[in-house]
Amino acid sequence: MARKASDGLGGKAKRKASKCAALENGNGGHRGAVAVTLIPGDGIGPEVMAAAVRVIDASGVRVKWDTQEAGAAALKRYDNPVPAALLTSLRRTRIALKGPLETRVAEGFRSINVYLRKAFDLYANLRPTRSLPGIETPFRNVDLIVIRENTEDLYAGIEHQVTPGVVESVKIITARASTRIARFAFEFARRNQRKSVTAIHKANIMKLSDGLFLKCARRVAADYKDIEYREQIVDAACMKLVTAPSSFDVLLLENLYGDIVSDLCAGLVGGLGLVPGANFGERGAIFEAVHGTAPDIAGRNIANPVAAILSGAMLVEYLGHPRVAERIRTAVRRTLRSGKAKTPDLGGKATTTEITEVILEELKRAT
Ligand code: NAD
Repeated sequence: MARKASDGLGGKAKRKASKCAALENGNGGHRGAVAVTLIPGDGIGPEVMAAAVRVIDASGVRVKWDTQEAGAAALKRYDNPVPAALLTSLRRTRIALKGPLETRVAEGFRSINVYLRKAFDLYANLRPTRSLPGIETPFRNVDLIVIRENTEDLYAGIEHQVTPGVVESVKIITARASTRIARFAFEFARRNQRKSVTAIHKANIMKLSDGLFLKCARRVAADYKDIEYREQIVDAACMKLVTAPSSFDVLLLENLYGDIVSDLCAGLVGGLGLVPGANFGERGAIFEAVHGTAPDIAGRNIANPVAAILSGAMLVEYLGHPRVAERIRTAVRRTLRSGKAKTPDLGGKATTTEITEVILEELKRAT
């Protein structure tokens, strides 16, 4: 079945709703430019976000960027990883383009990513993972949509020490969150002419929590007879993904499985430098690549900006410019196909700036 190239939610209604949400919140008042909060982020964030902003600005879409710090950068400067100015900006714009934020392992403040997704109820994480031309991988024509529940599961952050040497992390799964993410997945599938939705779970072990997730998904699936509904246990799904990715279409996952499986899917198409993403709620969205701060390559101008630029294309589509979004994607595809500028993660020697320049050149040509 033919599929749209669209990465966004698709459908005029959703775009209209998103624009209305922006306007209701005082957005859209900058002589035609839409205000968008820009969070450069930590590590490679400022480098790849600068590239995404250059491409969006060059695309002709009028955005008034409100740059705000968060995470480690904000902690250093304001002694607060979530400054009040950031929250005020997000409440006003309801739309952000965000770089990755550092979260320390086994210490430090809680993830600001998780905080922002919960605070603004951005319950759906959408990660379109597609093969790109000019990228050598074991598989061609990978076309997977990872849809991850964003607000609960083990990410609820409820952990405590029962007694020294024994700790407990609580996994929260609710019918409300499971139902709405399942509905998001089926709506996405229907609007984008996708064939199937596979709910990925571990309900053989977590019979109550993952069992509830599945019950909700099954109930929602009954309303979408035009879309095939399947279920697969997460470990078997991982094996199948790395041997026969084309047997999947839309993947529906709880928060933790979604996080892990989306990185696995990124590996199938050439790595984290290539996969965009977005977090959607009823009244706003934050666009961000799947990758993290990549501290191993930060500050060297060698990070791959493609994931950030493609996340920018998703933002442009959300703002109501699907054709411009497609022009940006075309420019990225042509750049990669030409092999003119490949960053080291793709086996080349190009810098972040060099590949961005080629994408900007291709954008001028793309119609
Ligand atoms: P990572 O995604 O930052 O890096 C994993 C590997 O992929 C590294 O080798 C890195 O160099 C490479 N990589 C990632 N993005 C790349 C790009 N654009 N171009 C080229 N190579 C790229 O994951 P990590 O090292 O596990 O995490 C580092 C930090 O990022 C942690 O603090 C983590 O909490 C944070 N993180 C944040 C987000 C987010 O803000 N949404 C997401 C994931 C991880």
